[in-house]
Amino acid sequence: MIATSQKNYRSLVACGAFGKRSNIDIGWKRKFATVAKNKLNNYVGVKYHIRASFPADTIALHNFYNGYCGISKIEADKYCLCYLTNAENLVRSNGSIPVMEKTILMQNPHLKKILNEAEIVFPAPLTISRISFDEKKQVERNVLMIGDAAGMITPLCGNGMSMALHASKLAAEQINLFLRDHITRQEMEQRYTQRWQQHFAKRLRMGRMIQRFFGQTWLTNSFVAISKSSPRFVNFLVRQTHGASF
Ligand SMILES: Cc1cc2nc3c(=O)[nH]c(=O)nc-3n(C[C@H](O)[C@H](O)[C@H](O)COP(=O)(O)OP(=O)(O)OC[C@H]3O[C@@H](n4cnc5c(N)ncnc54)[C@H](O)[C@@H]3O)c2cc1C
Repeated sequence: MIATSQKNYRSLVACGAFGKRSNIDIGWKRKFATVAKNKLNNYVGVKYHIRASFPADTIALHNFYNGYCGISKIEADKYCLCYLTNAENLVRSNGSIPVMEKTILMQNPHLKKILNEAEIVFPAPLTISRISFDEKKQVERNVLMIGDAAGMITPLCGNGMSMALHASKLAAEQINLFLRDHITRQEMEQRYTQRWQQHFAKRLRMGRMIQRFFGQTWLTNSFVAISKSSPRFVNFLVRQTHGASF
């Protein structure tokens, strides 16, 4: 049963598609939401839409100390500029995003130029904190978790939106079998978890591993240098982190 302020709902099957960190996760004391802060669970995301002029067919990726920033073309003459950093950078900047951008992101001359010259469309950036890439369970309290609620891939490596859609397809297949009395509830939950793990667990592990390269300057620089000089290495990483079409 799901109780809301308006009404209570009773249903045979429920899915949780409430994203990376919801009040429900806290209420249910899901493990990832209660563990102490660590290197993989305390990230901050910041997003702007900017007006600029970059190639439309290129997704730019710029790194900075303890973070990275992606820029891609969206509609009209606008671009999405989105960066992920660990919370430590924000703490070091007295909790101020402008200070963090000035003192940390702008150490990278490319980002300095972009942030200084681009016209920012939003009045204020969209931000999200306490982003966690820790492992999650795919079924909690008989609820099938979908999308980021089931597990979140690091944005550097993944296409999280596609994964969310794919997981909903995997869940729908098993729910359909259960509702038609072909399998039991327990089988539905087990089969969904198994299939989710088969499709995504390796990709998430790889994502976490690559994310760890973006912590220490020498490690990040070596990683970027190898990637730049070896398209085969980049293709290998893409194959490990992006699934086949479904
Ligand atoms: C910095 C950053 C950059 C990213 N870049 C990309 C990218 O370039 N490409 C890509 O594919 N993915 C990217 N992702 C990942 C992508 O955003 C997610 O993987 C995707 O949005 C997951 O979809 P979802 O439906 O699971 O969750 P969401 O899109 O977060 O949707 C969940 C929804 O549930 C709502 N909700 C939460 N709690 C409740 C509640 N109690 N009741 C009702 N509603 C509730 C939320 O308000 C939200 O609208 C990025 C993520 C981050 C953090």
